[in-house]
Amino acid sequence: MRKSLRNLVCQVVAHSFILTGVVRYATRKALNSKCILSLYFHKPSKAEFEWCIQWLKKNGFRFISLDDVERVKNGEIPFPKGSVLLTVDDGWRSNVPNVVEVAIRHEVPVTIFVSTSPVEEGAYWWSYVHQAKQKGLIPYTKYELKKMPEQTRVGILQEIKKKVNPGRDAMTVDEVKTISAYPYITIGAHTHTHPILINCNQKQIYEELKISRQKLESWIGKEVDYFAYPNGDYSTREAQILKNLKYRLAFSSDPKYLTPESLRNSFTLPRFGFLEGASTAENICRMIGIWQPLMMKLSRFPYLKPKKNNKEIIQESMPKGGPSPA
Ligand SMILES: [Zn+2]
Repeated sequence: MRKSLRNLVCQVVAHSFILTGVVRYATRKALNSKCILSLYFHKPSKAEFEWCIQWLKKNGFRFISLDDVERVKNGEIPFPKGSVLLTVDDGWRSNVPNVVEVAIRHEVPVTIFVSTSPVEEGAYWWSYVHQAKQKGLIPYTKYELKKMPEQTRVGILQEIKKKVNPGRDAMTVDEVKTISAYPYITIGAHTHTHPILINCNQKQIYEELKISRQKLESWIGKEVDYFAYPNGDYSTREAQILKNLKYRLAFSSDPKYLTPESLRNSFTLPRFGFLEGASTAENICRMIGIWQPLMMKLSRFPYLKPKKNNKEIIQESMPKGGPSPA
């Protein structure tokens, strides 16, 4: 489906969730239950990121840092009902004006998980792939490369790099260093070359996790203890290696709330994804945590008819003890 058509269809669906009170119910539930809205972005526009902060503030949410989340997990501070954690993956250059400057102006904490090789070299591997594909130099898409064994992917990328020049779309080392010193900004790791970790062997995973952390720590002069899995892909093996390397928390892209229960697993913390370019209605549903769970449920049924009603589905994905459905 073309992107514009996809966005239009999803906008209509999202509006139906808003008009039927599903969003209002989920918002009230999120504000009054023991759950944190854990969100991730990639490269939002300034307008998108600012709108997101304003919408969450207007609806009564308050923003907490990743350090706060760890203190909640360790029982050092009470569980903060009605709170939001903002994270951003990759370290895109546009994050500096569009995320960092906006976060500082609104006094909102943000954690940015940075891949170090693109920072050193200029671009992410899928930018090389996209350009090579556009020029007809390769038959593969980035989705196909994501499924290949790591050694195969690396070999293909080395060949592509000789043929294209995608320029720079990642932050520079100086930019990472500069923003790390700002209030409200935390830097986390996101591997060195942004491989799909489940396609790597054990040695490759250790190297990716060690190199990226060493580089980030040498650039910013601070310890780096938090991590986000590239593409959200992980298994118990990756979680165990992070634990062995004494990382403290790691985020997936499993679309669930951060609850006392999900906080028990330090290396599989969930997040809801904000979709850049989608409608505001869809992103309201995404931020409030109903979009992905509802879509997953709906996709299992012929004619998109769920057996359970939407409020029951939201109820299942939240901790017990919240208010009754309105
Ligand atoms: Zn990433």
